[in-house]
Amino acid sequence: MNSSKPGDGARLVALKQAVAAEIDAIAPQLIQISDDIHAHPEIRFEEHYAAKILSDALEGGGLAVERGTAGMATAFKGDTAAGSGGATVAVLAEYDALPGLGHACGHNIMGASAVGAGLGIARVMSSEIAKAAGLRGRLLVLGTPAEEGGGGKVVMLRAGELEGVDAALIVHPGNANRAHAESIASHGITIRFHGKPAHAAASPHEGVNALDALVLTYGAIGALRQQLKPDVRIHGIITKGGDAPNIIPELVEGVFIVRSADKEYQQHVLAKFKACAEGAALQTGATVEFEDMGIPYDPLKSNTVLEDLYRANMAELGLKEPDEPRKGAGSTDMGNVSQALPAIHPSIAIGPQTLVGHTQAMCEASRSPEGHRAVINAATCMAMTALDLYMCPELVDRAWAEFKG
Ligand SMILES: [Zn+2]
Ligand SMILES: [Zn+2]
Repeated sequence: MNSSKPGDGARLVALKQAVAAEIDAIAPQLIQISDDIHAHPEIRFEEHYAAKILSDALEGGGLAVERGTAGMATAFKGDTAAGSGGATVAVLAEYDALPGLGHACGHNIMGASAVGAGLGIARVMSSEIAKAAGLRGRLLVLGTPAEEGGGGKVVMLRAGELEGVDAALIVHPGNANRAHAESIASHGITIRFHGKPAHAAASPHEGVNALDALVLTYGAIGALRQQLKPDVRIHGIITKGGDAPNIIPELVEGVFIVRSADKEYQQHVLAKFKACAEGAALQTGATVEFEDMGIPYDPLKSNTVLEDLYRANMAELGLKEPDEPRKGAGSTDMGNVSQALPAIHPSIAIGPQTLVGHTQAMCEASRSPEGHRAVINAATCMAMTALDLYMCPELVDRAWAEFKG
């Protein structure tokens, strides 16, 4: 522990013990919030129920709460501070569910744990221990909607909601405890082919088959994969394939996501991806149009100064990291946040190593006893990391120095 003054180490330990005790004391409330959100799954930008109970809980804990932040009805911001000056730490909450699958990404746990960190820090900031320790700093709890494809955090960033923030923390449930995370750039795109309808039996020669164009595109993307770097992912579905088997399809649509760890390379792949569709249009005589879907996500730039603090706090709580690195990575709008300021996106185990996100098993784990423990442990780890930054300003400087590289 880096201490700026003799005795700071002991004060920091006392503050961490206090915040852990405060969060333990409200554990039943936090678990109830997590389960309540789980029982009311809401997809991107429709998280009205979740945003309300999370905002209400923060308000109940004495934080100043703003609802509808950055022009999003389901965004919110909780704010609390001790003394004047010091570091500003943002703890980010997610609470959107997946279409058809409910809370199969465990964002109910992320909403409850962020609020838990906020309530715990608020209680400690107003305590005698904080006064004795000279605690100074500010904590924001940012309710960020629509991580699953809507990019609420990017809207927050663009609105300036993260200006003045020194560190952004969020913890995602998964199959292991890890301070470090990887996430890759992603770009969603809709492909639309326009053909010409005709009777499929009586006069097929009069038609232009838009479905053929999309099927050829799908096949061409499969061939393209062989020539791409291994971190690239291209995946998609056909969302409109025609109206009836006896009508040559006039309008078809597919939705795809193109990802890579390297944003520049991703743009190169995106051009090749579009060429597959343009080639299919040429082959069939259909016309093609592309429409960007939502906000592109940047790769995660995980700050190792913050990671090390979080890792040490994880160890304090007995959360062990596996020896082998994680294989595979998704994408998150926390990536965009991490390109703007020092940030981390650790994971916390809610099930065995075999647990996979976006599945029914993950949905079940998100309300299991292990999921409940994760709410409390993630809240405590984030709160303890915030205390590190409040009490050791040189750590904030080091995090920024690494960020600026
Ligand atoms: Zn997800
Ligand atoms: Zn997720």
